Amino acid sequence: MKIVLDAGHGYQAVNRQTIDGMREYEFNRAVVHYARELLMRKPEMNVYFSHDDSRDVSLVERAKFSNRLKTDLFISIHANSYRGEEWNGVHGIETYIHRSMPIEAYRLAQRLQRNLIHHTQRLDRGIKTADFYLLREVNATAIICECGFMTNRDEARLLKTDRYRRACAKAIADSVLEHYFLYKNTAARKTLQYQ
Ligand SMILES: [Zn+2]
Repeated sequence: MKIVLDAGHGYQAVNRQTIDGMREYEFNRAVVHYARELLMRKPEMNVYFSHDDSRDVSLVERAKFSNRLKTDLFISIHANSYRGEEWNGVHGIETYIHRSMPIEAYRLAQRLQRNLIHHTQRLDRGIKTADFYLLREVNATAIICECGFMTNRDEARLLKTDRYRRACAKAIADSVLEHYFLYKNTAARKTLQYQ
């Protein structure tokens, strides 16, 4: 099983930050690192990263990387924003799949959205469809998660915490393992718990 965990953007990306200045990439990157840690406990899982700390890897490169590796799954992690200028009340978590509604992606998105809400207790904004480049061009089952709003004061505070980042990572790892039936029993599931 080959999976790409993709931390959206890069440290250098402009206008991708909370109102009070945390880079989106900092959150995205932490989550995928924790998720990889959890997933790699299963020998069946080969986890790859398509991002790079030294530069903002283009969407074209990210898609090519995944397609060249012939990965099964591509999960891109992001934090959302609404009118990036000032704090506002828009909040919650949403997961995107391509507008052609690929069934595998839809099923995984359902699990992931459910697990994210379960682990974070944030508002469920549901599964959305879009014609985003990565969703369209990546051959693998592809989804994009928006794990909370950088323009919402409460969620920006959460996005900075290790606890919230680990909760999102746990939701991702659980969803992938459930999706591919890699949880053999509840004991195995417990070993994946951080707390
Ligand atoms: Zn983003």
